[in-house]
Amino acid sequence: MRKKLAIIGNGMATGRLLDELIRRDALSQFEITVFGEEAHGCYNRILLNRVLLGGAVDDITLKTAAWYAENGIKLRTGAVVNRLSHAAHRLWTADGQEHYFDTAVFATGSIPRLPPIEGVKTPDGKWKDGVAVYRTAADCERMRSFAKSGRPAVVVGGGLLGLEAAKGLADLGMSVTLLHLFDTLMNRQVDKIGAVMLRRAIERLGITVRTGANTKAVLGAKRAEAVLLGGDERVSADLVVFASGVKPRIDLAQQSDVPTNAGILVDDRLQTVLPGLYAVGECAEHNRQTYGTVQPVYEQCTVLADVLTGANPNARYRGSKVYTRLKVVGIEVASMGDIDAKDADDEVVQVIEEKRGVYRKLIIRNDRLAGAVLVGDASAAAGLARRFERGDSLPANRLDLFASTDRAAEPVGGAVCNCHQVNEPTILSAVRSGCRTLQDLAARTGAGTGCGGCRGQLASLLLKAGKQPATVSN
Ligand SMILES: Cc1cc2nc3c(=O)[nH]c(=O)nc-3n(C[C@H](O)[C@H](O)[C@H](O)COP(=O)(O)OP(=O)(O)OC[C@H]3O[C@@H](n4cnc5c(N)ncnc54)[C@H](O)[C@@H]3O)c2cc1C
Repeated sequence: MRKKLAIIGNGMATGRLLDELIRRDALSQFEITVFGEEAHGCYNRILLNRVLLGGAVDDITLKTAAWYAENGIKLRTGAVVNRLSHAAHRLWTADGQEHYFDTAVFATGSIPRLPPIEGVKTPDGKWKDGVAVYRTAADCERMRSFAKSGRPAVVVGGGLLGLEAAKGLADLGMSVTLLHLFDTLMNRQVDKIGAVMLRRAIERLGITVRTGANTKAVLGAKRAEAVLLGGDERVSADLVVFASGVKPRIDLAQQSDVPTNAGILVDDRLQTVLPGLYAVGECAEHNRQTYGTVQPVYEQCTVLADVLTGANPNARYRGSKVYTRLKVVGIEVASMGDIDAKDADDEVVQVIEEKRGVYRKLIIRNDRLAGAVLVGDASAAAGLARRFERGDSLPANRLDLFASTDRAAEPVGGAVCNCHQVNEPTILSAVRSGCRTLQDLAARTGAGTGCGGCRGQLASLLLKAGKQPATVSN
């Protein structure tokens, strides 16, 4: 008799977890049911800007409804789990249906963090017309419904998502003002010098940037008309988008007496303190750390699949090294680890090319890469990320690290596309069996269709094999 495994949430963590479970023949042990609040099969949230620009959710879907059925997995879409009892081994969806489970996994992701701002919602608790957040496909459709070419928009938040939202709205023809509370853009990933270069690049796109801007209220009785800043300044806006960070979605865990802090607390096996209850992805907090990018989420999924199936009973999650890359077309930014020196002995290497708008910085500790910031030219990012991940010792001439000929940083049969776990042998085998372009590789292996950070490397593998790469559009 198969045990019942319930997965709550159907986002990117669940999509990857299902792949990992199937790879380990989990369906011979478990009857799997996925409860997803959203209306779709799992989609690639990283590519949501395509929906903002008018694409269909189908274009970024990772798993169609048919996929779940074909793989013997029960999918409940539009199903919010609003109650769970560990003692009774049961959960309930908002429509009142009860479901038994032996094992349950929270994969509830994150929700947008909203600063304390007045006038965002109507008295009945709904979003005011012209106000939106940037997290789901429905959010993008909402943004699009209020976006009118030539009209003013405000994006609140100058981090990764804020920059992406601002560029998307500018591409839709809106006149965009980006408001950021802190003094520099992407202040968590980019140091002060890099942020100056980044700001210039964003302004070149026609986006107005206001840093140190304290947004106090959205003005407009029925719909957004303007944003009120500290000092009582008004910035006109038909559309106000909040992209000011995320926080783990822990409401269900809290109501179900599952211990939480910022996220749902898990151990190295991704298990909560309650046996048989696990958490994975952005909702999970491991070792006082929560994550907001997909690579750590995928690393957790591998461990959890090993643990749940018993494929590797010793599998343990030890935390992830974080690597961030901005996907705004025309602006290259990559960041990993520390962005400023921390220890007195830290070595800092900085190369500033004012005219080209290029800035590259390395933080080196004990001859290992402790962090890097690249703005304007991120061609060295993949190699640096690998050295950062592996903890390699570094060449004596540190500038060699920026060269495309940095052979030591090339993968040794390791993952090229981290988003889809595609390694170099798989790419080369796809090339041998006829793939000629980046599109071919994407269709055959999925490589390059996640964050896109590996496309340069895929292109060099094609070139190495004597093929002419063609670009995959963003
Ligand atoms: C616009 C955008 C761009 C991004 N770009 C990048 C990028 O370039 N690189 C990168 O690494 N990361 C990026 N990210 C982050 C990346 O998408 C996340 O790290 C990833 O989606 C996390 O996966 P998850 O499954 O933990 O959460 P999610 O993908 O958010 O999935 C959680 C799902 O659970 C559902 N859910 C929650 N509670 C319940 C409940 N009680 N019942 C039923 N369902 C529930 C939610 O509706 C949601 O569908 C981006 C995110 C956004 C929004």
